[in-house]
Amino acid sequence: MIKALAMTPLQDLSHRASELIASLSPHVTLVAAAKTRTIEEIRTVVDAGVRVIGHNYVQEAEAMMTTLDRKIECHMIGHLQRKKAAKAVEVFDAVESLDSLSLAEALEKRCERMGKVLPVLIELNSGEESEKTGVPIREVFELAKGLGAFPHLRLVGLMTMGPMVSTPEDIRPFFRLAKECFDTLKTQDIPGSQIEQLSMGMSDTFRVAIEEGATWIRVGTALFGPR
Ligand SMILES: *Cc1c(COP(=O)(O)O)cnc(C)c1O
Repeated sequence: MIKALAMTPLQDLSHRASELIASLSPHVTLVAAAKTRTIEEIRTVVDAGVRVIGHNYVQEAEAMMTTLDRKIECHMIGHLQRKKAAKAVEVFDAVESLDSLSLAEALEKRCERMGKVLPVLIELNSGEESEKTGVPIREVFELAKGLGAFPHLRLVGLMTMGPMVSTPEDIRPFFRLAKECFDTLKTQDIPGSQIEQLSMGMSDTFRVAIEEGATWIRVGTALFGPR
């Protein structure tokens, strides 16, 4: 009898997704980080209320989006190669990981051809780690200014990963730095921009990120379980 009462893994996932969403204030959006997850898992969290899926790979996103029969928003959160820009414009509703002017140029070209305006976030390397993706703070404003020349890209905010930390509290200074950078970006007059989204915080750190001003949190394992 006990066995019959136990939840299946997908029911369990559904429950976890609803609880997580219910625990968030209305101005925070959960971006479900979908890498390595199955289509059944994605369907389950969408049915439970997830509205945005984050992908690290263009192909994976494309395959999932064509299989998924539900209309949901799809964000690129992983490093995007310039040669994948054209396909990315077709697949994604937003690119959170913009990290160079040359990538922006490639995205702009494709957007222009498709008559699409693509929301983008600049990825900030808040830990200033040489091996990490994203741009250092001193280059954020120059890149942002450069985006002003691309009418089909709308700069909507900033994304950051932050360094690996052993306790969530250790990442707070990096999130605080990202928030300062975000606030400064808002005061710059970048043509066509609408800076409103600060994407930061993952499974272990999203509570801290929200305290520091995150509007989008990108959560994988805390939702789907270990990879
Ligand atoms: C995988 C991933 C996440 C989520 O990581 P978890 O620790 O599983 O929550 C967030 N952002 C990016 C860019 C990722 O690749």
